[in-house]
Order: sequence, then structure tokens, then C-alpha cells
Amino acid sequence: MILKKIPMQTYENFHKMFSGSNQNTFNICRECGGACEHNKIGTLLPGEEEYMAEKMGISVSDLKIRYLDMLKMDDGTQIQVLKLGRLCPFLNEDEVCKCGDFKPIFCKIYPVILTIENEKINYIIDDWCNLSKKEACRLYFETAIPLLSNLAIPIEWLRHVISYDNLCFDYDELEKCRRGKNKYAIFSLDELLSLQKAELETSRLCIDFGQKAEELIF
Ligand code: SF4
Ligand code: SF4
Repeated sequence: MILKKIPMQTYENFHKMFSGSNQNTFNICRECGGACEHNKIGTLLPGEEEYMAEKMGISVSDLKIRYLDMLKMDDGTQIQVLKLGRLCPFLNEDEVCKCGDFKPIFCKIYPVILTIENEKINYIIDDWCNLSKKEACRLYFETAIPLLSNLAIPIEWLRHVISYDNLCFDYDELEKCRRGKNKYAIFSLDELLSLQKAELETSRLCIDFGQKAEELIF
């Protein structure tokens, strides 16, 4: 299925209006130890690879080769994900996210998560995350919800993402599985689901806690 991409300017507007984590949240995340990052998959929204490539000044194909893999769903829908492996390819040597102010929106908005209820996309705060337990923080992340609604995320796309997004995967097996594939590796959903893990590990996909203090928002 071919889905409508979210326009570049819409991404730009979102990032201008919502800056995401700051030093306050990093302190909470550091104490938490990155629990949300264990064995997870980082998904890009439709068209987000084009926006990120533009911001990085590289071609989309270069971005894909260096940073992304693709999940190909049974109906042909193509979903761009951060390279499936133990650490996110955007982490630099100081364990800081290289994406700066254009990091993937799903990274930027957490603990806001997307669900489908009554055939509509619903935005909620994940109570499991320690950020949700601090009222000022919760209120701040709630400000992302109307902005997310403006993105007009396709529900068909989200349905696919929900089929794997809450599961845990074996990164070592995923890395082995990619060995016979192109650098921009394509995984089917069945292939991905066969590499699930029963339990969380303590290693992280992203250890993005080293950021310098930004302007305090709350
Ligand atoms: S976002 Fe939430 S779950 Fe993830 S590291 Fe921070 S406090 Fe922990
Ligand atoms: S380093 Fe972390 S915040 Fe940055 S893109 Fe990777 S998973 Fe997302």
C-alpha cells in the first residue's frame, strides 16, 4: 500500500513548536536508566526520512544506507526504521543523539504514545514512563498532542506499527539476520516477529542522556 507522506514543511513546523526533552527530563531519564529503550524499534513517520535527509544535507538513499532499515508489511507498506541493532546509529561517541532538533518525532514525543480506538488515532501519555509521574513534565508533553494531530498520520500506517511497536526484540539476532542483506536491509514482518525476545535486556538502543542544559521549559 502506498501511503501519503507528511509534507516537509509540516515536520519543520512541528519541530519549531515542540522542542522535546531538556535537562530536567534528562535527569529523570538518567535516574530511570533508559527503561523505554530496551529492545525497542525506532520508527520514522511517513516521509520523515526525506525531512531528516534534507536537514542533514545528504541524499535519502545515503540516509537509508547509513541509518535506516525497512520493514515491509504483507500488503507492501514500507516502514522506515532506525537500523535494527543494539545501539541507535544516530548515537555519537559521547552517547548523544546526533539528530539535534530534528530527531525522529516518535523519539521526541515519548512518553506520548499513539493508539487506535474506535478507528481513530488516540494520543495518550504512557503512565509507565517516569516522566509521566512529574506533573509539569506531563503537562509539557501533552502540548505535543495537538501538534501531532496536525500531522495527519495515516491510520493504516499506524496499524502496521502497532503490530510490532510494543514488542521486545533480540538485537543480536537482528544484526546476524542482516548480514546477508543490503546495507539498507529489508525485513518482512514475519521475519521481525520471529526475532522477538521474551524478556527485556538491560542494554540500550539509545543512551541520549549527555545533552547540555537547554532553556528550561518547566
Ligand atoms: S523517557 Fe521515560 S522510560 Fe524512557 S528513559 Fe526517560 S523516564 Fe525512563
Ligand atoms: S539516538 Fe535516541 S533519540 Fe536519537 S534517533 Fe536514536 S533512538 Fe532516537
